[in-house]
Amino acid sequence: MKKVKVGDTCKAVCQDCKAVVDITFQLRDVPFSNGMGIVEQVLSGVCNQCDRVISIPHQSTPEIKKAYDKYTAEGGSSEQKTKA
Ligand SMILES: [Zn+2]
Repeated sequence: MKKVKVGDTCKAVCQDCKAVVDITFQLRDVPFSNGMGIVEQVLSGVCNQCDRVISIPHQSTPEIKKAYDKYTAEGGSSEQKTKA
């Protein structure tokens, strides 16, 4: 998998534009998939037409996981962690 950096461009399908659009990789604050917090400054693919984050490169996944772990460890999650 090719690594991308800020300013790189590629093509992706945008659900909002309902088209294949050019995206530019930028650092963005991205919400977790459960909507309970955000990861700050994650490299994300942003639609050039509607300015929405429509793609997160695989290389950003560990960063998001780390931020999520930190978030839950700080009690951001409503779920109680149970230790065996
Ligand atoms: Zn779009």
